[in-house]
Amino acid sequence: MDRNFTKNLVIIGGGPAALAAALYAARAGIGVQVYERANVGGLLGEISQLDNYPGFTGVGSDLATAMRRQAETAGARIEYGECTAVRPLTDGRATEEAVVAGGTDADTNGRMAGQARFELVIDGAAVRAGAVLVATGAEPKHLPFTVTPPVSYCALCDGALAKGQNVVVVGGANSAAHEALYLANLAHSVTLITHSALKADAAYSARLANTSNIKIIENREPNPEYLNQFAYVFVAIGRTPATDFLRNLPILNPNGYILTGKTVFADRASPSGFAHMSALPGLFAAGDVREGSVRQIVSAAGDGAAAAIEISEWLR
Ligand SMILES: Cc1cc2nc3c(=O)[nH]c(=O)nc-3n(C[C@H](O)[C@H](O)[C@H](O)COP(=O)(O)OP(=O)(O)OC[C@H]3O[C@@H](n4cnc5c(N)ncnc54)[C@H](O)[C@@H]3O)c2cc1C
Repeated sequence: MDRNFTKNLVIIGGGPAALAAALYAARAGIGVQVYERANVGGLLGEISQLDNYPGFTGVGSDLATAMRRQAETAGARIEYGECTAVRPLTDGRATEEAVVAGGTDADTNGRMAGQARFELVIDGAAVRAGAVLVATGAEPKHLPFTVTPPVSYCALCDGALAKGQNVVVVGGANSAAHEALYLANLAHSVTLITHSALKADAAYSARLANTSNIKIIENREPNPEYLNQFAYVFVAIGRTPATDFLRNLPILNPNGYILTGKTVFADRASPSGFAHMSALPGLFAAGDVREGSVRQIVSAAGDGAAAAIEISEWLR
């Protein structure tokens, strides 16, 4: 990393949003450090057959490897490490233990070479940055049991496989309604089963009721015996954005997603119109962790690229 923090970006997470951002930021001459806590590629590593990323079909981890290689060739550094805290700095001063990429960053008088705006904790060590991009994704909540049919957590991704079949959607909120309506165009029949009353809003509920091949079962706990009757099981019981480490910052919506751009600055001008910047100047978000994401690989990558372009402008 450059000692001049006004040019440094730390990216938290190593999925498609992070890797696209790392590529764009490195190519813009920014010192980029990526920290990934588990698997570089993120959810790409769980996709055995990817068919809806333009220009690529195949195993998700192959795309992850290519994305990583391209970002590193452009100059980004990618390391394993878990971020457990992000703190905005008010005066850019170093803490004694802070290091970036193995070196100390304060000069002999304790001054920073450039202004650090954030201090992060990575695997217990302090790391400073001029800007931070959070691209930590959102894990789908899983069924608490196994079933015989194939299980999907993304109708947009796997709906084509359910063509002409009888499928079931587990869940009762807007996201489950959205999945059921999408699948109704493809499947022979769609059963939506929810353990409580339907919680989808009025517009979604009306559309569900008006779609002839959707059947709704409310107040019934789905169990394996019931779900095993269907050709495919689509699960839409919520997601958990990986933002626990940001809980102390005023940038999350009640569900834990990061608010950016218009959602933050609706009542006043967004600084230079940065659509990916949170309420904390210099802290940006991209991919599934950002409120409003459509949760696809192509959109996560596009989001990362757009965020990197904004970060490059902001650092300048
Ligand atoms: C089973 C499944 C199949 C899918 N199939 C498709 C498909 O066919 N087509 C499609 O377009 N989309 C598909 N998706 C959706 C797609 O995978 C996601 O939209 C996309 O991966 C989001 O990218 P991201 O970079 O925002 O987050 P992720 O891919 O989730 O990456 C986030 C990364 O951040 C890391 N991280 C989290 N917290 C920390 C931390 N504190 N410190 C360091 N690292 C951290 C995580 O370990 C993870 O690697 C699928 C999703 C699932 C679950």
